[in-house]
Amino acid sequence: MKKHNFYAGPAILPEEVKRKTSDSLIDFAGMGLSVMEISHRSPQWVACMENAFSLTSELLCIPDGYKVMFLTGGASSQFYMSAMNLLDESDVAGYINTGTWSAKSIKEAELFGKVKNVGSSKDDKYSYIPKKLDSEGVKYVHYTSNNTVFGTQFQELPDVDVPLVGDMSSDIFSREVDITRHDLIYCGAQKNMGPAGVTLVIVKESALGKVKRNIPTILDYRTHISKGSMFNTPPVLPIYISMLTMQWVKDNGGVKAMKLRNEAKAQLLYNEIDRNDLFNGFVAKEDRSMMNACFGLHDDSNQDAFLDMATEAGIVGIQGHRSVGGFRASMYNAMDIESVEVLVSVMKAFSEKYG
Ligand SMILES: *Cc1c(COP(=O)(O)O)cnc(C)c1O
Repeated sequence: MKKHNFYAGPAILPEEVKRKTSDSLIDFAGMGLSVMEISHRSPQWVACMENAFSLTSELLCIPDGYKVMFLTGGASSQFYMSAMNLLDESDVAGYINTGTWSAKSIKEAELFGKVKNVGSSKDDKYSYIPKKLDSEGVKYVHYTSNNTVFGTQFQELPDVDVPLVGDMSSDIFSREVDITRHDLIYCGAQKNMGPAGVTLVIVKESALGKVKRNIPTILDYRTHISKGSMFNTPPVLPIYISMLTMQWVKDNGGVKAMKLRNEAKAQLLYNEIDRNDLFNGFVAKEDRSMMNACFGLHDDSNQDAFLDMATEAGIVGIQGHRSVGGFRASMYNAMDIESVEVLVSVMKAFSEKYG
């Protein structure tokens, strides 16, 4: 039976990407060797790397003055690496606390400088995006563009007049972004960009080299920029799969087309959550995420019955995050609307049986 993959991350990849990956594991670029067993200095690999850089720049319209890196360590490493490279001990960084991931990023930044809370939705279980922000005296404002755990998403960039640092792990390539408002953007690949193992970082070059501390060579962004992300052995397979995924995004109309596709999927599901008396959405309507919809049943005791019906229809990965409960349906770029249609039809069938 066809599976409908709603996992939050690691998450769905396009079928075509999986097939091409499968071929490259045996014979990469006609070399008779696997992509995993060739030198990263070989011309065939260097061409792949160049392709990954140019696709990133093209899809996200990255302007001059910005540099792209493919690093390891996940978005979690960027929590500290961003602060280490951008924040001096006497500086103040502004942080918007919209849940699990932002809270973790705040903890790490506090190791390197001062942190000011410029807005938080902690008072209401992270169910909304704070809009009144107090960014006075801060060097930059860090925000999490899409809150994978709680299902909220910034619909507009934070309204501040300092540069932004964005964790876009779960909505990169899902819509257009004004890069010029940012000093730094980072994302772990395993939600909307590829598999786990590579982290995309985009930095404004002029924001670097301003801190006084000594930075270990491999943690200094300038090292990776100067070596084209090949200072040490890059994670070739995750970069390769991410490159194929970006090519797929491009072939399917680019980021603009992804946004339309994602809006249609999200609208379909949220309409049913609002229409169906048995279900309720967890977050403020105007802040709902296009990527991760968090919702539940008014009557919790029916939770397992609904999961059973969903499983029978081929749906996987809709159990809510352990800290939130209920259900979470993640609808990243690679998901077809057909999968959301199946989920909605199960919700309708469920309400006929239990309503
Ligand atoms: C998943 C996620 C992270 C953590 O990513 P890792 O690559 O596992 O470190 C950070 N931020 C957001 C918004 C996420 O969704």
